Parts: sequence; C-alpha cells; structure tokens
Amino acid sequence: MIIQRVVLNSRPGKNGVPVAENFRLEQSTISDTIQVGQVLVRTMYLSVDPYMRCRMNEDTGSDYLLPWQLSEVADGGGIGVVEESKHDNLAKGDFVTSFNWPWQTVAILDGSLLQKLVPQLVNGRLSYFLGAAGITGLTALLGIKEKGHVTVGTNQTMVVSGAAGACGSLAGQIGRLEGCSRVVGIAGTDEKCSILVQEMGFDAAINYKKGHVAEQLRELCPGGVDVYFDNVGGDISDTVISQMNQNSHIILCGQISQYNKDVPYPPPLPPDIEKIQKERNITRERFLVLNYMDKQEASVLQLCQWIQEGKLKVRETVVEGLANIGAAFQSMMNGGNIGKQIVSVSK
Ligand code: NAP
Repeated sequence: MIIQRVVLNSRPGKNGVPVAENFRLEQSTISDTIQVGQVLVRTMYLSVDPYMRCRMNEDTGSDYLLPWQLSEVADGGGIGVVEESKHDNLAKGDFVTSFNWPWQTVAILDGSLLQKLVPQLVNGRLSYFLGAAGITGLTALLGIKEKGHVTVGTNQTMVVSGAAGACGSLAGQIGRLEGCSRVVGIAGTDEKCSILVQEMGFDAAINYKKGHVAEQLRELCPGGVDVYFDNVGGDISDTVISQMNQNSHIILCGQISQYNKDVPYPPPLPPDIEKIQKERNITRERFLVLNYMDKQEASVLQLCQWIQEGKLKVRETVVEGLANIGAAFQSMMNGGNIGKQIVSVSK
C-alpha cells in the first residue's frame, strides 16, 4: 500500500533554530497484510511539542528520549482510527492513541501499544486527547499536584511562564481550580495576554516582550509569588524567582527558552538566583509527567470532567495536512498561537 510519511531531513545542530526544511514529506509503502496482534490505522491527528527539539539532535541528552534518525520517519503523540484489526481488544472504527505514532498517513501498529479512546469524554473533540485531556493536561495537573504544594484557603499567588502555551494555559486555570487565589501569566503578545485574562480566568498577564517584567510582577503580585509554574527558564524565570516568597515552590515543567542551546537539563540557575533560591528555601525539583503514569487514568477523567463542565477552557490551533507538520513544528517553537498546536492528517 502506498502512503505518505514525514522523515527527518536534516538536524538543526545543537545550537541551531529548527526550521520546516529539517523535515521532508515522501511517498513510501507498507505491507498490504497485517499480522496477528497488529492493526491497520489511519492517522487523524498528530501533536507537535517542544520536547521533539531534543529528538532532532544526534544525542537527545536524555535517557528516556530516543533521537530521530536521518531519513527515517519521525514520531510522537498521535490519534487515529482502526481500519483493520487482528488484535483481540481492538475493532474496526475504534479510535486509538499512542505517544509514538509515526508521522505517516496510514500505519501498521502493534495493538498492545495503543490506548483506546472514548470520544464522548471530550464531547467528540478527539484532538483534545493530545492536549487538554492528554499528556499536556496531565503535565499541568500532575505538575501542580506533585510539585506545587497548592493548599486551598492559604491565599497563594501563582505565576505561570509560557502561559499562553498548551501547558501554561491549562496550568493557570488548574492552579485556580486547585485553590490559588491569584494567577498571573507571562506570554509573548498582547492578544495572548488578553485571551488569558478574558477567556481563561487569569487575574492578569504580562507581555514579556513589552515593558519591564520585574516591575509589572511587583505590581501584580504584591504579596510575592508562592507557586511558579515554569515552562521557559532563562531571564524570565530568574526575574520570577527573585520575587518568590520564603518556602515557596517552583514547578519545573520545562525550559523552552533554552532548547536551542547546548546546555544540560535542567540548566543551572545563575549564582545570584541560586543564592536566593537556597536562602528562601524555594523548592525546584525536576518534574517529568512520565514518572506519574499510575495516576493517568484518574487524572484524565478529572480533566475531561472539567472540560465538560466548562471549568477548563481549551484553545487549539489545527494545521491541515501532513505536508505542513514541519511548518507547524517551526511555528510552535517560535511561540505559535495560543493553546495546543495540532496537525490534522485526515478526517
Ligand atoms: P507550547 O504550547 O509550545 O508553549 C510554549 C510557550 O512558551 C509558547 O506559548 C511560547 O509563546 C512560549 N515561549 C516560546 N519560546 C519562549 C522563550 N524563548 N521565552 C519565553 N517564552 C517562550 O509548549 P507546551 O506543550 O505548552 O510545553 C511547555 C513546556 O512544558 C515546554 O518547556 C515543554 O518542554 C514542557 N513539558 C514538560 C513536560 C514534563 O513532563 N515536564 C511535559 C510536557 C511539556 P510566547 O513566547 O508567545 O509566549
């Protein structure tokens, strides 16, 4: 059978900025028959995510991520529909997902590595299983629960960097649902900031590309910062940490501002900021959502319930066509639109 697929065309280099041309669309073939235990799936949605930047390097710098190989098909979070099954638990028409879905239009996959999806849980919005009801939502929820020390009724202020991104836009809302009394976001455009406040219930948002972040933070967080959901690292995080309270907590979710640099993860703090962190007893433990997969099922149900109740507002940008996945990745790494960036392969 003839299929379309996207392979890694070139590596950006550890200190390079990735571009769409690092990927290549090509025609390929797969077998016409499937084996016992396998399913033939048609790809519907693919996710582009910041962690994929490490997979473009020959050495990902991480023991749980494998590098993509040149001229081989890329993979990541994906959703598709079963067209033919020789697996006992899967039938034609089932919707399924995997963290390692190949970037191709049709694929033969091992049925035991797929999770079946229930579209009703997300009001039929299947792509949400790659975002708010998937790994992104889990990261926001479990990051806050495991590392945030949020306690109802204690008047905590939360700051979220990368607040308009897939994870950040959910983290601010979940921080509020879990008990923070004030939530302030940091994002890269006025439009993103206004959506965070008007649609997603943030108390305020700072455009870090305009004005003075430290001054605005001081004004918007008069009682200091108790919980910091850190998606970006770098100067923004140094500024936030400087205004954190004694015994406060950083949720070390990601450091996207450092991903095009050859630095270790997590990048060490500058000495003056590290001194503040230590003196004020601010926790900054590494958080990796994959370490909490025993909590996946209950947490996804919680996220779906909030979505259905309208308590969690979800934004996503859907780019049409497998041919555009490289451009979607490039755009996402440059800030993208508000919320989750998804590629629709076929309906
Ligand atoms: P995303 O949707 O691409 O959002 C990232 C946001 O960061 C964007 O809204 C972007 O927009 C902002 N940003 C990009 N470059 C920036 C820079 N240099 N300085 C400041 N802001 C910048 O990504 P996501 O899926 O939400 O992921 C967010 C973070 O979570 C990433 O660091 C990712 O690696 C991490 N993550 C961690 C786990 C875990 O288990 N720990 C799991 C999933 C994701 P603006 O610049 O326009 O604001």
